[in-house]
Amino acid sequence: MSSGRHKPDSATSKDTPKVVPKAVVSRLSLYLRELHHLIAAGHATTSSGQLGQQLGFRDAQVRRDLAYFGHFGQPGVGYRCDELVAAIRKILGTDREWRVAMIGVGNLGRALLGYKGFGSQGFRIVAAFDVDLAKTGQKIEGVPVFPLDDLPQMVRDQQIELGLVAVPATAAQHAADRLVAAGVSGILNFAPVTLNLPDRVSHVGVDLATELEQLCFSVANRRPEP
Ligand code: NAD
Repeated sequence: MSSGRHKPDSATSKDTPKVVPKAVVSRLSLYLRELHHLIAAGHATTSSGQLGQQLGFRDAQVRRDLAYFGHFGQPGVGYRCDELVAAIRKILGTDREWRVAMIGVGNLGRALLGYKGFGSQGFRIVAAFDVDLAKTGQKIEGVPVFPLDDLPQMVRDQQIELGLVAVPATAAQHAADRLVAAGVSGILNFAPVTLNLPDRVSHVGVDLATELEQLCFSVANRRPEP
């Protein structure tokens, strides 16, 4: 995982501390998701209580988290949902399109290429790469698949900033090194291995198996209801 603290968005951070705990940034994504649900359900405004309720957070927690980034909402009115969505997207940097490369088009890579949700959240997978030449030269879910050697040129030509790594664990460091050398700024790694990358490249690991382990621990250690 990359650095656990983030600098707040300069446009909203005049009076705020210089660093924001990673947990706060994680909760922003949850607030954003909840806001989309509220908007879909016809809500134009919301409150910190309502926003936190479904997520299991207290209203004070929601207000404290948002206060890292400025002043939002109005007393007696609450937050306008569309304004808060725009503000959180600006803070997260997802108020614009991010161009993404997929490395590895096996089972997981193909499934991710088929996921339409990335597009609506501002992530556009513009090219995929694989070492298996039987998979290159075709389009999967509309995304062209190239040999790995084409990566530097495609990153340049397509202005790719982020890479998704969906290769076997034994190949993940190599794939990530190639992404770094090609010039991407961030990597989301699905392989069950910790990557060793330069500080200038942000990276996040996703591993459903470790999440399942956490779930098992929680279930196994659940105390009986009093
Ligand atoms: P897969 O074997 O079906 O596909 C891997 C693909 O990567 C193949 O097409 C292969 O040709 C390609 N490849 C191998 N080395 C490469 C390299 N150096 N550069 C580019 N492409 C390369 O595997 P899968 O089932 O799709 O799984 C992919 C990865 O995702 C594995 O590491 C797996 O453990 C992991 N995984 C993670 C999760 C999760 O929760 N994060 C879930 C499932 C799988």
